[in-house]
Amino acid sequence: MKRPNIMLVNPWVHDFAAYDLWAKPLGLLVLASMLRRQGWNPALLDCMDPDHPSLDKLGHKASGRGKFHKTILEKPAALQSIPRTFSRYGIEVEEIRKDLETIERPEAILVTSLMTYWYTGVSETVDLMREMFPGVPIILGGIYASLMPNHAGRAIDADALMVGPGESGLIETLLTKTRVHPVNPVLNPVVQFTPDLKLLRCVRFLPVLTSRGCPYQCVYCGSRIIQPHYRRRRPADVIREIESAVVEYDVHDIVLYDDAFLCDSNRYAIPILEAFESIRPNLRWHSPNGLHVSEINPRVALTMKKAGFSTIRLGLESSSDNFHISSGGKTSWASFASAVEYLKDAGFKSSDIGVYLLVGLPGQSPSQIEHDVEMALNVGTYPRLAEYSPIPGSALWAESVQKSHYPIDSEPLYHNCSLLPVAGPGVNWQFLSKTRKTIRKIVESGSSEQNSVCPSIVDRDQSCC
Ligand code: SF4
Repeated sequence: MKRPNIMLVNPWVHDFAAYDLWAKPLGLLVLASMLRRQGWNPALLDCMDPDHPSLDKLGHKASGRGKFHKTILEKPAALQSIPRTFSRYGIEVEEIRKDLETIERPEAILVTSLMTYWYTGVSETVDLMREMFPGVPIILGGIYASLMPNHAGRAIDADALMVGPGESGLIETLLTKTRVHPVNPVLNPVVQFTPDLKLLRCVRFLPVLTSRGCPYQCVYCGSRIIQPHYRRRRPADVIREIESAVVEYDVHDIVLYDDAFLCDSNRYAIPILEAFESIRPNLRWHSPNGLHVSEINPRVALTMKKAGFSTIRLGLESSSDNFHISSGGKTSWASFASAVEYLKDAGFKSSDIGVYLLVGLPGQSPSQIEHDVEMALNVGTYPRLAEYSPIPGSALWAESVQKSHYPIDSEPLYHNCSLLPVAGPGVNWQFLSKTRKTIRKIVESGSSEQNSVCPSIVDRDQSCC
């Protein structure tokens, strides 16, 4: 029996800036594994693919990190007054069209979505799918669809919306919308995390997800809304999968997509990292998502060092304990300072230890930001300013709506962190860019450590959204 085709689509991004920091459509790749096991034949259309052959001709060098190809677009009406260029990031439309002309008509198309303020890119992608495959049901899922299903229902021309983790309800939706019955359509599939890497054109690094969700519930974060339950894999399964993918694709870089990799590290992160310390000592581990600083003790820090941790981002957000008490209690200044000490004792340098600090929060003043930066620099870390984007449904949403200079409750384009949509007086791009320059100067003048500053840190600071 022929397996029914299903096309999984990673849409274009429309934004003022976008930077590829080991980005891969991991959610779709995980769903692809599940669909394959259940009798479907998944294919991937990645509009953001840095390895697309058309980019060679444009001189784009794919490495896993770098600038996405962009095409300047007319700004949407809501952003007309913003004095910055607005672009479509990803492959040119005509190239995607050519790709689609060679693809067999699928039984269904599943489109994912990420940031709420990227919805115009999702809409453009869905419209092209409609044009190329009239009559094929289109299902929209992902973060934007989960956070703003009502808006997505109005703004995107999809036949069905999926809210929450993709596994739940996907097979049922496919059966209803396509009336195709593949060989093994189990309605309640076991949640799994293995990405179908065979769908990628090129595997330059290994995207890894060892858990879903997060046990914390910070007021500014949407993790719990998108993944209501915190679930982890068995370390032995993670080890087996990484090992076999490392051999199959001959890669040395492992990129963790987890929200909470270090939680309960004695039973999870440590056994995983220790296993590779002996069998694969040349691996480099990267965590572009913030690690939980309260989970870093001397043993964890040493294990990270021995395993070859290369990119470390700590999720501090603020140096203020009052902030942490009122925002979810994921850490404290004392825990952070101890974690940094343990990491340094284990052999990491200041420039290795990137620290996320949230900027542009409602009511936050420039002097609070300067204080956070100073505190992070004083303990010898590399402060990374992360602009706050309001998340619908989060505990900070109501205050954000109230304090925003834009109608963020009716137009998701205004959630864009580039706009600093809820920042207080004095917290603007001039201030942030000056602060970033000062940080770079101080970290880079850290004498002997100068050469070890990760280029991705510098680049991302320059072009961060
Ligand atoms: S700890 Fe991190 S991932 Fe978890 S809720 Fe807080 S910000 Fe989100």
